[in-house]
Amino acid sequence: MNTPICGLCGKKSKLVKTDCCNNWICNDEGKYVIFSYARNSCSRNHRRFTLCGYHNTEDHKSNWKTCKKCANSFDAEDYAWYGTNEYNFEKLPDPPKFDPTYCSLCGVIINRGEDGYTRLPDGKFLCESCGWKHMNEQIKDVEKI
Ligand SMILES: [Zn+2]
Ligand SMILES: [Zn+2]
Ligand SMILES: [Zn+2]
Ligand SMILES: [Zn+2]
Repeated sequence: MNTPICGLCGKKSKLVKTDCCNNWICNDEGKYVIFSYARNSCSRNHRRFTLCGYHNTEDHKSNWKTCKKCANSFDAEDYAWYGTNEYNFEKLPDPPKFDPTYCSLCGVIINRGEDGYTRLPDGKFLCESCGWKHMNEQIKDVEKI
């Protein structure tokens, strides 16, 4: 019999099977520090940042790879990232094409899966540094009042 290993990071201890796809994964959810935004928990990453995990959490039917509900729940860029990032055991075979997201202030391309970004209420995107500037300006505006 093969020794089970975590399909994401390769560790061999403290493993559980995922609810969604029955793969071995680190049982490391408890290590997560709330509000740290750290992505160091295999089981949490798979549950939170993949279509497989989302599909299962939302109780969709059939296979996540062909699920219309999942496809309609995200923009093409987010959908492609959720389906193909490193937290997947199996990747989406045919991720949709999408136009890159640009920062509406400085024009830099934002990789929405990996970079920090701000989404403004009008649907525009700001890169991480423009997002900080924008936030600081808003705080100043509030202080003026
Ligand atoms: Zn792992
Ligand atoms: Zn899964
Ligand atoms: Zn789904
Ligand atoms: Zn920017």
